[in-house]
Amino acid sequence: MAYDFDLYVIGAGSGGVRAARFAAGFGAKVGVAESRYLGGTCVNVGCVPKKLLVYGAHFAEDFEQSAGFGWSLGEASFDWATLIANKDREINRLNGIYRNLLVNSGVTLHEGHATIVDPHTVEVNGERHSAKNILIATGGWPQIPQIPGHEHAISSNQAFFLKALPKRVLVVGGGYIAVEFAGIFHGLGAETSLLYRGDLFLRGFDGAVRKHLQEELSKRGMDLQFNADIERIDKQADGSLNVTLKDGRTLHTDCVFYATGRRPMLDNLGLENTAVKLDDKGFVEVNELYQTAEPSVLAIGDVIGRVQLTPVALAEGMAVARRLFKPEQYRAVDYRMIPTAVFSLPNIGTVGLTEEQAREAGHDVQIFESRFRPMKLTLTDCQERTLMKLVVDARTDKVLGCHMVGPDAGEIVQGLAIALKAGATKRDFDETIGVHPTAAEEFVTMRTPVGA
Ligand code: FAD
Ligand code: NDP
Repeated sequence: MAYDFDLYVIGAGSGGVRAARFAAGFGAKVGVAESRYLGGTCVNVGCVPKKLLVYGAHFAEDFEQSAGFGWSLGEASFDWATLIANKDREINRLNGIYRNLLVNSGVTLHEGHATIVDPHTVEVNGERHSAKNILIATGGWPQIPQIPGHEHAISSNQAFFLKALPKRVLVVGGGYIAVEFAGIFHGLGAETSLLYRGDLFLRGFDGAVRKHLQEELSKRGMDLQFNADIERIDKQADGSLNVTLKDGRTLHTDCVFYATGRRPMLDNLGLENTAVKLDDKGFVEVNELYQTAEPSVLAIGDVIGRVQLTPVALAEGMAVARRLFKPEQYRAVDYRMIPTAVFSLPNIGTVGLTEEQAREAGHDVQIFESRFRPMKLTLTDCQERTLMKLVVDARTDKVLGCHMVGPDAGEIVQGLAIALKAGATKRDFDETIGVHPTAAEEFVTMRTPVGA
């Protein structure tokens, strides 16, 4: 049977755009539907605007520290509206680039909500398009617990468009988004509290990293409240919010920001018209080739709930395009050694196993750790310290994990990820000559294991 398209992609986000462009480049006839914004979450309400706000927040300490280097500035003031307007202009520019990328690669773009009407047909804006394969790349959406008063809370989606910087903010959650936005609000001058339901935030990260970040954030005056959870939110006549915690305490704030995870975006997608199955967490179930239970329907990115990171969605999109249209270039995505950064202030950068994971996996573990005051701060009053940590297998000498909390940790860990992927040993690290004077050189000069 002749179809309108070889591949129809639903969602022009990180994964969808990558799959569509590469498939079209390989000669396939490709259609894409996008209901909201070109570039998806990452470009519009994720990585990119977040990083711009993190840069904005960092200036507060730069101004403060500049005095140690002889600078004297007038009183600094910050204007939220300027930051948001400039951020919006940049995102508009990127939206245009994404449009050009798609159109110039020969993809047919349909701007509207797509619904799957049968395993080979998608409907957008009342028009039906047939396709040999349909790729679901619809991403995720913030999930706020349905507590009384949840309608007074915001998520990251709204935070990027607030009309004014709230005076007081309560951030709820202990994952990437909570920690990053707490740093943004705090850095920009809001009185910020971070509430997490467990003992210590960033579950799954290395224990030393979690503890170090806790100490650094506390030093900066951020209010961290662990083992704390909200029972209800009540709006007051003056617009402020009364927040009642499960332990009976009451907090007053101007903004409650929930960052408690993301659900797959499946709204009105028409999955009921297919045999596609969901996993026990509600994400689209796929096999190692991203095939769903419906033979003509594939899925990638946040909607499959594996690793919710842009570079992973890109790699999955590329894998699908290659397997379908350039099989000789197909390579399965390798989910081991995925480096990641949390753009908290200070940043976290990490790749490979945490100490806890390495021990649990039965490795005979050697730990190398270094804590120091970054050189840039030696002329300032700032007491921030950097943490670097290596997790090594004592039997094979292989470096299993690298972890850092400190300036530019995300930048530094990218290079380390290549080394770990190539199977570097501690001896390889030791025999690598450092770049002096940098913080990164500390990763090749740690000689004595902790406790040895
Ligand atoms: P998305 O990028 O979400 O794209 C899905 C697209 O599908 C959207 O444009 C949506 O409008 C569209 N869509 C949905 N349903 C339909 C439909 N029925 N019809 C038509 N279109 C539809 N990752 C990092 O690696 N680094 C970071 O620093 C980082 N920061 C983040 C910060 C925040 C605040 C958030 C929320 C996420 C962040 N992420 C980060 C995660 C990253 O944004 C996602 O992993 C990535 O965007 C997933 O790509 P995707 O293609 O699966 O989905
Ligand atoms: P995460 O899954 O990272 O964290 C969710 C947090 O919310 C956890 O601390 C979790 O606690 C807590 N939580 C979950 N449910 C509840 C609840 N009902 N009540 C109170 N707390 C709750 O999600 P995020 O929303 O922070 O981010 C989503 C994903 O986006 C990330 O996992 C990441 O993959 C991606 N992302 C990546 C970034 C980057 O690369 N820098 C930046 C931002 C997002 P517990 O641990 O106890 O379960």
